[in-house]
Amino acid sequence: MKAAVYEGPRTVTVKDVPDAKIEHPCDIIVKITTTNICGSDLHMYEGRTSFESGRTLGHENMGQVVEVGSAVRKVQVGEYVVLPFNIACGFCKQCERGLTNYCLTMQPEPDLAGAAYGFADMGPYQGGQAELLRVPYGDFNALRLGEDAAERQTDYVMLADIFPTGYHATEMAHVKPGDQTIVFGAGPVGLMATYSAILKGAGRVWTADHQPDRLRKAEEIGAIPINTAEQNPA
Ligand SMILES: [Zn+2]
Ligand SMILES: [Zn+2]
Repeated sequence: MKAAVYEGPRTVTVKDVPDAKIEHPCDIIVKITTTNICGSDLHMYEGRTSFESGRTLGHENMGQVVEVGSAVRKVQVGEYVVLPFNIACGFCKQCERGLTNYCLTMQPEPDLAGAAYGFADMGPYQGGQAELLRVPYGDFNALRLGEDAAERQTDYVMLADIFPTGYHATEMAHVKPGDQTIVFGAGPVGLMATYSAILKGAGRVWTADHQPDRLRKAEEIGAIPINTAEQNPA
């Protein structure tokens, strides 16, 4: 299969690598149909991490299931799934508390917790900037999508990371109906935080950034834009 392989700082090459395959009875194999490149991929791309040369990037993945292991019960071949970027077992102490980002069994280093696809220090798992992706514990990690999945891939792929990350910010900020909310930064996650605050019924939402194109998008969503470049002229 082809994959986007990290070969050192600022060097990523599309090359042939061995096909992803079932390694454990709970695995599924997904044929990737849509993925995002994330801002946090830059940590690896720019060489600021211990990410090993030869590994495949990509933790925001969706696609169609092409194979399931013998112990997989829910996920079926042919289904479209989106994969939240964290890989978790579903049965350890942390997963049972809902803290799947600190899963204890998918991280091989005893001093660390948590795992992810194609990410530094998050276990040996390959990323989804590839034709095929191995998903451990497929029944737990794959979010199975409905009939409109194929047509709405660019919406659903947001569930791998960007949308829940922005939503989580509004959870941590306890945004409630009628609240006045301001979001600093209108990159993809900031825009999703803006959108989440509006979905939660915030009375007014301001979004601050210095990029006019981002602010236009925030306004489209329903926020009041604040151009910080104009607020603080250099
Ligand atoms: Zn991401
Ligand atoms: Zn776990």
